[in-house]
Amino acid sequence: MSTPDQKNQPVKALESGLYIVATPIGNLADISKRACDILAAADIIAVEDSRVTGKLLNHLGLKKRMVRYNDHAKVSDRDQLLDAARGGVVALVSDAGTPLISDPGYKLVYAARDAGIEVFGIPGPSAAITALSISGLPTDRFLFSGFLPSKQKARAEAISELAAVKATLVFYESGPRLGAALAALEAGLGEREAAVARELTKKFEKVLTGSLSELAARYADETPKGEIVLLVGPPAEAPTETGDVDVALAEALTRLPASKAAGEVAKRFGLDRKELYDRASQMKK
Ligand code: SAM
Repeated sequence: MSTPDQKNQPVKALESGLYIVATPIGNLADISKRACDILAAADIIAVEDSRVTGKLLNHLGLKKRMVRYNDHAKVSDRDQLLDAARGGVVALVSDAGTPLISDPGYKLVYAARDAGIEVFGIPGPSAAITALSISGLPTDRFLFSGFLPSKQKARAEAISELAAVKATLVFYESGPRLGAALAALEAGLGEREAAVARELTKKFEKVLTGSLSELAARYADETPKGEIVLLVGPPAEAPTETGDVDVALAEALTRLPASKAAGEVAKRFGLDRKELYDRASQMKK
């Protein structure tokens, strides 16, 4: 049993088990106090790449035993980690963010639970949640879909499976694939609100929002640098209203400026916003 190195808190022995520890997605200051304590107390840290985690440990002033792990590891390697977690503290980290989120760890956690070993989550950064929280897209329901397939046919199939999902869709992407992914999403989902969140928590962090067609056009010939989360808003509610559009527009114009009135009525009747804007401008004259 190991003990965390905490100065101002009563030192509480850590329970044996497997600790899933989230690490920063770019800004090292985002590591939590608890994550530092667990890493300091760990008997073994299972890592994706010891050079990447080595830098983090170096930054924290820690020298620890690291073991490379991914979900293709031999069963015997997994079993060794589980044996260690029975009587000590095994931490799993990935290169960045929360392990298991498009990163290794699922088989290890499954096997640990299957073997009755305690599994503890040490929450922290994840690019998907960070992007979602600042995208301006609805957050009440979202579906994390990891990386889209890179081959055209498989990507189109994956997108068509998602078309009816009434939730914000969250994808991980890379710069060289972004333009093709946006074009495929526009083709498969139609016009929707979307966001491209790049280099989160880093110096060149940038979030671009717009419709899928606007973003697809923007990135058609540009390969952005850095890491990317791509978000697509839910499908528009099917318009329910029928009746006299001009009456509705005239009424909306008593409350709203022309662009907003056009947007509101376009949504209600399922009509083209630009056409309604032209109509609203005429009415105002
Ligand atoms: N486990 C990580 C997490 O919790 O976010 C994700 C690991 S996945 C292998 C790496 C992908 O996450 C990148 O290709 C990118 O799509 C996204 N990502 C990671 N860090 C990011 C950042 N700082 N800004 C934007 N996207 C990021």
